[in-house]
Amino acid sequence: MHTRPADVGQGAPTEPLACDAVVLAATVTAVRDIVAASGDIGDAPWRAALASQRATSPFAVQRFWLDRPVRADRPVFAAIAGGGILDSIAVYNHVADTSAQWAAATGGSEVEIHAYAMPAHLTAQDARAQMTERLHHFYPETKAAKVVHSTFALSQDSPAFAAGTAHLRPRVHSPDPTLALAGDYTWIPLPSGLMERAVASGFLAANCLLSHYNVRGEPLWSVPRRGYLADWTA
Ligand SMILES: Cc1cc2nc3c(=O)[nH]c(=O)nc-3n(C[C@H](O)[C@H](O)[C@H](O)COP(=O)(O)OP(=O)(O)OC[C@H]3O[C@@H](n4cnc5c(N)ncnc54)[C@H](O)[C@@H]3O)c2cc1C
Repeated sequence: MHTRPADVGQGAPTEPLACDAVVLAATVTAVRDIVAASGDIGDAPWRAALASQRATSPFAVQRFWLDRPVRADRPVFAAIAGGGILDSIAVYNHVADTSAQWAAATGGSEVEIHAYAMPAHLTAQDARAQMTERLHHFYPETKAAKVVHSTFALSQDSPAFAAGTAHLRPRVHSPDPTLALAGDYTWIPLPSGLMERAVASGFLAANCLLSHYNVRGEPLWSVPRRGYLADWTA
């Protein structure tokens, strides 16, 4: 039986939650800290591998609700090269129903900008200002627009995949057959990443626990695991 520690996790749980099996599916840094705070799970090599997990550089996401449309030919998603810290601009009302409804009702637009792998020393204020300036540069019509509402998030919880650390990447199964891991930080035997890996590892984690109880799991389909040109020699 597992009980969750009282001093980790969001919302600071006050009561232990008794359960038969657990999938740890938080961010890589949260899983690392939960394992570190749970001294009675896993074995020493597994715990050491978990303790070595790191987040990569910070990222920022900013969304604007503007009082006017962006140019009609703006793409839904534009990847930006050479734009300082700005990596992408997405026009949500060109793709999402609720955003399109809001834009139609108000005559406005909903624009989201991303900055991935930012320099660690950049303050939230500077990141925000630099991203906004670049948006105005690439989509000048946004500069004149009034910002009706905006949100900004700066975070650092995406897993790092540093060279030479592949052997330390956590597997879905753990030394405890009633504890499994899931998330984009795990190693799985399928060519995948990000959301795809998070979802696939979730299925594998559930299957891993189900097999402990002799219950059939869900089949998981993959693209070919070996490249078509792998055997080709010039
Ligand atoms: C700006 C941005 C754009 C992206 N674009 C794409 C894209 O286009 N395509 C793509 O495939 N991927 C994209 N990704 C990556 C994708 O979002 C992640 O790979 C994916 O969400 C990972 O899923 P996950 O379940 O592993 O972790 P998360 O989605 O991060 O979920 C982890 C959960 O754990 C919770 N949590 C955190 N700490 C604790 C704790 N201590 N206790 C309990 N719960 C906790 C969090 O609240 C969260 O709900 C993007 C990421 C970012 C930041």
